[in-house]
Amino acid sequence: MAIYKVTETNGDTWLLQADMVRAEAPISYDYHQEGDGWISTPFQTANARHEIGLAAQLVLHYIDRESCAEDDDMECDCADRIKSIDDISSEDEGRPE
Ligand SMILES: [Zn+2]
Repeated sequence: MAIYKVTETNGDTWLLQADMVRAEAPISYDYHQEGDGWISTPFQTANARHEIGLAAQLVLHYIDRESCAEDDDMECDCADRIKSIDDISSEDEGRPE
């Protein structure tokens, strides 16, 4: 599992936990960045086509699913809200695997 820090264009940051190698690995997030509050998503690596950018987009879409409503075609602005994604796993060795 790797941990990524996602920065949105509005300055918000949150954490994404995923393994972009294993197709069946779960994708979870921590919007409050306290590190002990991982929230599961219905998604796995395969859903994100092994791309961390798409994984972040899926999670953001999931977090905002009420405002994104039934926009399953991802035609909302979730993709445009992601400014950068940084792998912070190596800086964070105390985190659980
Ligand atoms: Zn969306």
